[in-house]
Amino acid sequence: MAETRVQEGKAAGAVEQPSPGKSLPRIEVIADFCKGCEICVVMCPRNVLEMRADPSRWVGSVVAVVRPEACTRCMLCEVHCPDFAIKVF
Ligand code: SF4
Ligand code: SF4
Repeated sequence: MAETRVQEGKAAGAVEQPSPGKSLPRIEVIADFCKGCEICVVMCPRNVLEMRADPSRWVGSVVAVVRPEACTRCMLCEVHCPDFAIKVF
């Protein structure tokens, strides 16, 4: 399982900025595992994720990646998802 890393010299809790020229993170949502609890949305410090209504699903909603360019690969969403439904590469 991934860990949250704080670079040396940075204050704990500091939000790392994406480096220019670095490839965009790939964020995968396994919709069948998502129960719409919103934990990942609340945990994301960069507002990358959002809940989307989806009446076809038993929970009525699913998480959506709306600002992938803002993702810093901090992994908070992945490590806090209780259902292993979101992965960041
Ligand atoms: S934390 Fe996991 S189960 Fe909850 S909304 Fe996010 S992806 Fe879905
Ligand atoms: S890894 Fe997850 S919590 Fe962190 S910035 Fe990207 S989407 Fe948000």
